[in-house]
Amino acid sequence: MLVREIIRKKRDGGSLSDEEVAFIVKGLTDDTASEGQMAAFAMAVYFQKLTVAERIALTCAMRDSGSVLEWPDEDRPVVDKHSTGGIGDNVSLMLAPALAACGAAVPMISGRGLGHTGGTLDKLDAIPGYDTQPDENRLREVIRTVGCAVIGQTSQIAPADKRLYGIRDTTATVSSIDLITASILSKKLAAGLDALVLDVKFGNGAFMGSKAEARTLADSLVSVANGAGCRTAARLTDMSQPLAAAAGNALETLNAIHFLTGDHVDARLWEVTCTLAGDLLYLGRLADSSATGRAKIETAFTSGVAAEKFAQMVVALGGPSDLMEKPAEYLAPAPVTVDVFPATDGHVLSVDTRAIGLAVIGLGGGRQVPTDKIDPRVGFTGFAEIGQLLGTNQPIAQVHAATREAAENAAEALRSAFVLGDPVEVDESLCTVLLEGDAA
Ligand code: URA
Repeated sequence: MLVREIIRKKRDGGSLSDEEVAFIVKGLTDDTASEGQMAAFAMAVYFQKLTVAERIALTCAMRDSGSVLEWPDEDRPVVDKHSTGGIGDNVSLMLAPALAACGAAVPMISGRGLGHTGGTLDKLDAIPGYDTQPDENRLREVIRTVGCAVIGQTSQIAPADKRLYGIRDTTATVSSIDLITASILSKKLAAGLDALVLDVKFGNGAFMGSKAEARTLADSLVSVANGAGCRTAARLTDMSQPLAAAAGNALETLNAIHFLTGDHVDARLWEVTCTLAGDLLYLGRLADSSATGRAKIETAFTSGVAAEKFAQMVVALGGPSDLMEKPAEYLAPAPVTVDVFPATDGHVLSVDTRAIGLAVIGLGGGRQVPTDKIDPRVGFTGFAEIGQLLGTNQPIAQVHAATREAAENAAEALRSAFVLGDPVEVDESLCTVLLEGDAA
């Protein structure tokens, strides 16, 4: 087989066999395909698209380009969730321990912030001592004893994706749905999952702005993951305002701890977390429907068992044993905190959610370039929600910043991101769409 001939076939709209796709991925992994050839292949896929069978072949070959975890001694279902990313989306921090409390094994391999969105690993890095990069033995031990471990990807997971992603990034081919599908799923499926739920975001804080785009990606992810042998369903959820009342790393971790202890529970966050986790209990055959699964998850939260699991996971991965009792002692506050007031009163009509993500980066809570060091203390809390009536003496949110100047810049960005006006009908629907898959 020749890489050049495979590129030609795809360029001309042909369908590739599993062997041809595997040959391309082998070329990516062992460097027998050049950078230029892989860029040409990515562009051919961008324009000619892949069939579902080709996407499954690409996903499986990329998954198998590195180590794939197996759980032969595990009698619990091995499950995970993937979100396409947003602002104030700390769902993973509550969902993983709740699932473990309900009898699932959750090796959750998570990522860092991408673009304007926050990353689960950056949130966990705010906890002193917590090891987001344990070796495989430690991961297995934490799963065996606690049931969940939220950790980072190692270089052994899907190395073909790492190389292809770098090439896509410099050749304007990142936005191909086919390549996004294989990229996301090759990494997730390398954890050896029985079941997966996908939270595909739409709205102005999401990568897929419109619901239609989100549905196209969700359809692709669901059919490919099921085709690769993992029971998978997806929800489309709203990202046209931050999901939690907080955005920023330590602030979102604190928000998650308050959610788990019941001290402060954001309603939309509760809805999304319980829905996705309920689906996973169903997909993992621990509940006979998503609704029954959801009821079990709600009990795991209200009984405090999910909070205990989170605390055990933190300790097992090197974090403090009294984090849940004294979170503020470990999640250090930023030196400057200011309320941001609106210029005029009115109802919150819309929020530029992407601008909020960029403002967190501007405060130092995200990366402008991959080598940037994050300040975990900074961000926002207490966001007003769409539909809420604000007077000029009622804050839109609080800014947490390293300096007064940074706080003022962020306050200005926040004020511009919130549009206030006369009341309108607000669509509060969340988790409105359940796509194909086995969740029911
Ligand atoms: N996230 C990924 O992991 N890969 C993509 O291609 C896009 C988002």
